[in-house]
Amino acid sequence: RDAGTAAVAAVENVAARIEAEREHLTDLDSAIGDADHGGNMARGWQAAADAVSDLEDPDIETVVKTAGKTLLSEVGGASGPLYGGSLVFASAELEDGLTAESAVAFAETYLEKVQDRGDASVGDKTMVDALVPAVHTFKKSVETDDLHPLEALAKAVAAAEHGVSFTVPIRAAKGRASYLGWRSVGHQDPGATSTLYIMEELLATAA
Ligand code: ADP
Ligand code: MG
Ligand code: MG
Repeated sequence: RDAGTAAVAAVENVAARIEAEREHLTDLDSAIGDADHGGNMARGWQAAADAVSDLEDPDIETVVKTAGKTLLSEVGGASGPLYGGSLVFASAELEDGLTAESAVAFAETYLEKVQDRGDASVGDKTMVDALVPAVHTFKKSVETDDLHPLEALAKAVAAAEHGVSFTVPIRAAKGRASYLGWRSVGHQDPGATSTLYIMEELLATAA
């Protein structure tokens, strides 16, 4: 199975997972936002899955770019441009295919773009709280610890999971949840949660 075909399967698996978690993501966003994260994401990923399954013999860069463009036009809100725009931008790192090195470059570029666009840092109670530990763990596991990319991805998923838990006790400083001030404390961030689900599906598809 080539990387393009695997990427199509990954997008389809993400779409199915997000659909299964739609209500949970909506509940999380109704506590500290406007209750649209589940619907936004489910609609966007279903459209992305449809778009990539229509591609003929696609390479991985095209699959990721197509998914990103579709999310960008379908998701809306804060998370649409963050997910979609960053995927489109980072897809260029995969132009020569998928290797451990290009996967690290993709992850780092994706994170960089999310932070460029959203201006959030660790501790602001956003998807960045899941992404930063995940990307750093992935890079370190591949480059320093010389782990197999799949093992590195598994460690990155575990790091993202800790990042999601870390969003619960902290106060939001970016996005809609920040309007609540201290009342955002005690709630799990929806975008960090959806980021974790996406990563879990990447791992499940790759494994
Ligand atoms: P909206 O808040 O516009 O309705 P969504 O509900 O789809 O958008 O997404 C909300 C999620 O977006 C939040 O849970 C958070 O993780 C993420 N988010 C919001 N603002 C930012 C930001 N500036 N940087 C990074 N992530 C952000
Ligand atoms: Mg929302
Ligand atoms: Mg909204």
